[in-house]
Amino acid sequence: MTGSVVVVGSANVDVVVDVPRHPQGGETILGGNLRRTPGGKGANQAVAAARAGGADVSFVGALGRDDDAQLLLDSLTGAGVRTDLVRASDAATGTALISVTGEGENTIIVAPGANSAVAVDDEVTGRIRQADVVLAQLEIPLDVVLAAARARSSARFVLNAAPSRALPEELLAAVDVLIVNEHEARDLAGTDGDPESLAATLLEKVATVVVTLGAAGALIAERDAEPVHVPAPTVTAVDTTGAGDAFCGVFAAALANGTSTHDAARVACVAGALAATRPGAQAAMPAVEDVSAAAR
Ligand code: ADP
Repeated sequence: MTGSVVVVGSANVDVVVDVPRHPQGGETILGGNLRRTPGGKGANQAVAAARAGGADVSFVGALGRDDDAQLLLDSLTGAGVRTDLVRASDAATGTALISVTGEGENTIIVAPGANSAVAVDDEVTGRIRQADVVLAQLEIPLDVVLAAARARSSARFVLNAAPSRALPEELLAAVDVLIVNEHEARDLAGTDGDPESLAATLLEKVATVVVTLGAAGALIAERDAEPVHVPAPTVTAVDTTGAGDAFCGVFAAALANGTSTHDAARVACVAGALAATRPGAQAAMPAVEDVSAAAR
């Protein structure tokens, strides 16, 4: 049976320019090629869950009334994501201004725009009530994330706490599975330490903690059990943008399809690794066949 996932989150157009180096304050430099590609953590994870995870996926988000909105809608529908719950806002579609040097060092400025208009209305609540998994991130207002968590009935609530923000206790208490990278784990735990000790601290608040470790895979920690390390396949990474989002989307889809937490993390690690071998965010999400072939 195909499980259902509702992703509540951001959609941005990524406006990317190659630069020889980053400019200093007050300085103008000439850059290279300009690209506009579909991004935003929410939309990226929805595309990953549908394309690489094979779940029935609805995206709850908001877009402007502009050409960038169409770019995002095309990417979402192209992956098979339901977009009937995407709202139109008078604000511009969320935009990430990204400059990348030849060494792959990014600077990113996000103008949230329409993402501030994401809302959990009656229709969204109805879809969330029927879902197996609700997946959210932190690029939209926190009260919307909390409203999504409260709206569910039997769905598991998976929170990717990215980008790092202070979280109200009430929100953390509603989380079934927390997914963070090492940097976010440190911020949320409010301490330094290795992934095992960070996960142990976070387990005081959340029953299941997944810490993603880049090329080293992920650590799955659950209360009253030894943490388990899941390796990622060895790949030649060309662009790790979207690797974390591939992991989260595929993890949520696998849980919705009835897979155990550990097996969901295994397949999510494969999807994250494959996404790192391709440029871009949504364009880098592998197909479900690629993930199963690489997982064998
Ligand atoms: P984020 O992008 O959010 O910082 P990570 O860098 O931890 O997240 O990557 C998420 C997942 O993507 C990892 O758990 C791993 O499965 C996969 N991944 C990322 N980078 C690589 C890499 N260089 N080689 C193999 N897998 C990778």
